[in-house]
Amino acid sequence: MNIEQKINQLREELRQHNYKYYVLDTPTISDYEFDMKLKELQQLEETHPEFYDPNSPTLRVGGEITKNFETVVHEHRMYSLDNSYSREDLLDWEKRIKKLVDGEVYYTCELKYDGASINLTYENGALSKAVTRGDGIQGDNVTTNVKTIKSVPLKLTGDFPPKFDIRGEIVLPYEGFAKMNQERIAVGEEPYANPRNTASGSLKLQDSSETAKRPLDCLLYSIKGNKLAITTQYESLVKARAWGFKVPVESKMVHSIDEVLDFITFWDEHRHDLPYETDGVVIKVNDLQQQEELGFTAKAPRWAMAYKFKAEQASTTLHEITYQVGRTGAITPVANLEPVLLAGTTVKRASLHNADQIAKLDIRVRDTVFVEKGGEIIPKIIGVDFQKRDQNSQPTQYITQCPECDTSLIRKEGEAQHYCPNDQGCPPQIIGRIQHYISRKAMDIEGLGGETVALLVNEGLITNYADLYQLTKEQIIPLERMAEKSADNLITGIEKSKEIPFERVLFALGIRYVGETVAKKLAKHYKSIDAIIAATEEELVNVDEIGIKIAQSVQEFFAAEGNKTLINRLQHYGVQLEISADKLANQTDTLKGQTFVVSGVFEKVSRNELKKLIEDNGGKVSSSISAKTSYIVAGANMGPSKLEKANTLGIEIISEDEFLSKIT
Ligand code: AMP
Ligand code: ZN
Repeated sequence: MNIEQKINQLREELRQHNYKYYVLDTPTISDYEFDMKLKELQQLEETHPEFYDPNSPTLRVGGEITKNFETVVHEHRMYSLDNSYSREDLLDWEKRIKKLVDGEVYYTCELKYDGASINLTYENGALSKAVTRGDGIQGDNVTTNVKTIKSVPLKLTGDFPPKFDIRGEIVLPYEGFAKMNQERIAVGEEPYANPRNTASGSLKLQDSSETAKRPLDCLLYSIKGNKLAITTQYESLVKARAWGFKVPVESKMVHSIDEVLDFITFWDEHRHDLPYETDGVVIKVNDLQQQEELGFTAKAPRWAMAYKFKAEQASTTLHEITYQVGRTGAITPVANLEPVLLAGTTVKRASLHNADQIAKLDIRVRDTVFVEKGGEIIPKIIGVDFQKRDQNSQPTQYITQCPECDTSLIRKEGEAQHYCPNDQGCPPQIIGRIQHYISRKAMDIEGLGGETVALLVNEGLITNYADLYQLTKEQIIPLERMAEKSADNLITGIEKSKEIPFERVLFALGIRYVGETVAKKLAKHYKSIDAIIAATEEELVNVDEIGIKIAQSVQEFFAAEGNKTLINRLQHYGVQLEISADKLANQTDTLKGQTFVVSGVFEKVSRNELKKLIEDNGGKVSSSISAKTSYIVAGANMGPSKLEKANTLGIEIISEDEFLSKIT
């Protein structure tokens, strides 16, 4: 087998596995095997850019930057849908239809998934364009971002038409959404409000590798095109599925409005078992001939109707507002409610977000409030039943002191949240910070869990993460549920954490806004904690992807006396506060601030060595050419598409020798 055949074989194999995993949900190889194959393909593609394919599975990881999304006019207009809310509405609709068409009318029932609608264009079985709905006439070209969504097929299988559009919804499953929010909360950022807005926001990110990280899914429901050999809506769903698209299996063909109502009743009750948010059912006349006869009104097809589920609301009494203190000191007001049944679960608490929200809705204790459960996992209070308000009730006074340590709260300009500034003395902050420090993605201390941390703090054995390194077995054995063996494990786990690399230690410190990615960037750039401490705000902002908010937070953290002491102590105990020496050997700053794209085959060094040389000398390697690229290092056989792009953007192309002379 020659290289080209090998590359094609790997692409095909990966496509198959991708399809099995993300569309069918039945993987047949392990994640590890998949990654190995992907790596192999990546390497072959790098050494053989002449076999470039814009729809290769390796491009799923993203990396292309889009500054402005191009506006594209839809070939087939994307209409809206008429809404109905009751059985009567649907019966009226049926009557109107029967006046306009002859013969029996069958329907398809589909769930109305709530996400961002998208139009995908396929030419000769390959994805060529993905455009948002926009105003229905024209939308934004978001192809680079959509290509990173794993359930969107980049290549089709079977007997697909040469050119067609397919429409669907880009959605964020509840589970992935909750995970994204947990990660945001962990670094002290505001959680996203709901999956739908987060899904549409994800399509408009400038860096497609950011979109790639989000667990988005794409559900398809409608094919548009000329001279397609399809006669019914249901047939189009079956065909789309056969070509490799993810078509919701809940879709059903029925023979009467009564059956439509059965479908609605069933899903109104069971929709919370689905992995995604739905807000209704879409009913479509099945026969495409009949659809054509029915046509469109100014805004929507006459042959389709959305049935909206009732937003699930309940009213109940607000007993008390309590306040929670997070690890960063952020205060969250919580509504404690008279338990009420809502969307299949009993709701006792709801988030009130912040002081402004309480003031805006004028929420008071003992009010009867309306609670709604929409896409959010945590129910929210959407309003007050003012008619039931007690004459004597008083407006809510937001707390001024921390409920845990009584320190006066502060609120920074432009921020919605109040904070307790007593980070060294406020129990939930102390415990939260240590819990973050030991967590899996940070120091990953085996044998120590969140509850034990709380216990150690409450027993007065530790007050910060540096104290962990002074714990002795004798101190912890007397603790509740602590045996000889578990005490040993704990001490060994703490000892082992001294080997955790610097970038993770930096994340573990719990600096606000310094998440995993930012910590990596800072560690790589500065190489030691001392260099980060010495950096000015201006210098920090100049580091790739570090904004003013992060820079200020870093400075604030290291300016605090308490933190300085902590760092000194960690240093003393042997925690990794710099990139280890052998990693540092041979490193310079010669290429600082420069971004390189490497393309083609080289004579003196291998591609990977070349990349390592760039990074070791402080440069950045990027896989795709953009306006940010400083140089392209071109070897033999540079890919034609890269050459063209470099020329249009006017980026300098240098040879292997020219590059090597830069660093010697
Ligand atoms: P609306 O925005 O309320 O006018 O509803 C129209 C939107 O519903 C479309 O633009 C789609 O994004 C969305 N939708 C979700 N599921 C379906 C479906 N099965 N068929 C048609 N549209 C759907
Ligand atoms: Zn406090």
